[in-house]
Amino acid sequence: MALNKKIAYIDLTTGKIETKPIPIEVRKKFLGGRGLDMYLMYNHIKPGIDPLGPDNVALVSAGVLVGTLASATARTHVGGKSPLTGYIASTNMGGFFAPEMRWAGFDHLVIKGKAERPVYLWIHNGEIEIRDASNIWGKDTQQTREIIREELGDRDIKILTIGPAGEKLVRYANVMTGIKNAGGRSGTGAILGSKNLKAIAVRGTMDIKIAHPVEALEYNKKIIDLITSSKVSQTQGRFGTAFIWGATNTQGLVRVRNFQLNQLEDSDDVETESLDEDVFGMAGCFGCQVHCRARHIIPAGPYAGVYEEGPEYTAQGAFAGEPGCRSKLTILEGNHLSNIYGMDLLEVGSLISWAMELYEKGILTDKDTDGLELRFGNDEAVVEMIHRIARREGLGDILAEGGLRAAEKIGKDSIKYLIHVKGMSNLHSDERATPALALGIATGSRGSDHLRSRPAIDLYHLPEPVLRQIYSQPVSYDGPLTSDYRDYEGKPWQVRWQEMCYEAVDCLGICKYHTTFLGATLPNFEEWSKLLELNTGLELSPLDIWNVADRAYNIERLFNIREGLTRKDDWLVDRYFDEPTTLGIPSIRGRTIDRDKFKKMIDEYYEHHGWDENGVPRPETLKKLGIDKEPSHML
Ligand code: SF4
Repeated sequence: MALNKKIAYIDLTTGKIETKPIPIEVRKKFLGGRGLDMYLMYNHIKPGIDPLGPDNVALVSAGVLVGTLASATARTHVGGKSPLTGYIASTNMGGFFAPEMRWAGFDHLVIKGKAERPVYLWIHNGEIEIRDASNIWGKDTQQTREIIREELGDRDIKILTIGPAGEKLVRYANVMTGIKNAGGRSGTGAILGSKNLKAIAVRGTMDIKIAHPVEALEYNKKIIDLITSSKVSQTQGRFGTAFIWGATNTQGLVRVRNFQLNQLEDSDDVETESLDEDVFGMAGCFGCQVHCRARHIIPAGPYAGVYEEGPEYTAQGAFAGEPGCRSKLTILEGNHLSNIYGMDLLEVGSLISWAMELYEKGILTDKDTDGLELRFGNDEAVVEMIHRIARREGLGDILAEGGLRAAEKIGKDSIKYLIHVKGMSNLHSDERATPALALGIATGSRGSDHLRSRPAIDLYHLPEPVLRQIYSQPVSYDGPLTSDYRDYEGKPWQVRWQEMCYEAVDCLGICKYHTTFLGATLPNFEEWSKLLELNTGLELSPLDIWNVADRAYNIERLFNIREGLTRKDDWLVDRYFDEPTTLGIPSIRGRTIDRDKFKKMIDEYYEHHGWDENGVPRPETLKKLGIDKEPSHML
């Protein structure tokens, strides 16, 4: 059945491997993927450990619906303690790795210790081997995949790998499951690198038995209709997330020159239509009807003729908006280099842009940059800095440590210009006109982030009755909701609701683009309850699924608090409050976040969670969710 896949405990220090079934009571509480990983993280990682030491634990998993007859159930989750923030590391990516891992018999891997030499894991039909990786250490992510497939003689093997950045412990290194299927944010690639674990290769032909196959197939047709009839999904299937750039840049909702401006003017070359000129088709993840990954050949420059996928909205911001560049080629090269080195391009672009502002302000000098003219708009400097960060050369070595550590090393008042939350760089959007989105990044459990709680549909000016229909189930809500994205009223509940929405799909293994993320008509709790029952036989109501998400989110909070997080970490940098937007459409200009109103939003957000005024979960909240005895060591 779909719930009989196992958990494997792999100790790289001793070479010991142990497998266990996952008890049904654990499934009901945490389902799988991110939810169960967060439980394992809280239970297996001791407080205060070094994230780059052998005591950290790398968690790799598939969501509970992955590989079933439900659409877009492709997600792999990777977790641990973040080398970047010191709080939770948690990342989620598509592709084909997670379904293959389930077909190979495993849902969760708990990887401990540190191998003496570089190794990779070979997982196939219930078996796990630790193999020598000396010949692939130093190779990029694409070369690694090719060498392992060649070595094992099977082109259908799916591979999760780190690149040279992970090996060099760049604190925001990615894990990658495909050419551009990146587990970015929070530095899980550095966790694998610190364990000398280069890759995990999987291949399986073990069935996933569907509980009610005919009904599951029939029901999924309804899901496919919901997805494919949505305009936003159709647009995304045509252009990928690059389409979002035009929509946000036009209004003045992006971060330019490290947050000094909120619109990139005269930027035709980096717009969606320009990027689209090189695209010859779209690719998709397992079981997806959207296909949002643009396939292209890099048209010129040192990587001319190289096949790549994307670039995404994040790459446009990271390598155009933030560093104030206007070249399509810089975006394509930045995207490609980040993918093959295995680095979080969002962090890379943000930190380079921060360094540019420091250089222009004289805080960094030519001596610090080894003569590189690190000015805004300098395309060559952006590309050069990507190499230097990945190779940890010169200033790149300092930036590879992440913003907070780099600011300590650089000194002066460099910290003043760092745009981050909890030590993680912000996405390139400008949230000064959108308090709901600002609250989302300030409170995100893994640091500044747009994929943990962002109520993106808040930007659509949806009528209040539509908002109420979405945000009043599966938990009733009769507080305020407003259509104006500049309002503060009711937004804390929207953030809270979206948190549960994203946590739930990360437990189920469904892509966020198939949920109430970008589209108001896309599926959520009601549909997931049905999909879960028909595919796995597990009967959880929409409210039960909300509670699974709430449980996991509270465990994330408990982990962060155990590692020293306090209320002051749920906050934004001063520029949000002190420097008004200057560009964009009239309703966006002149906006800042109001400190007092924002503080009130955080109070309200904590209250919606059942947390006290310091953001600590109240005992009764934990009891209600059945996690008051954690860590419980059930697994
Ligand atoms: S929408 Fe994009 S990211 Fe999501 S499953 Fe489909 S192809 Fe993958």
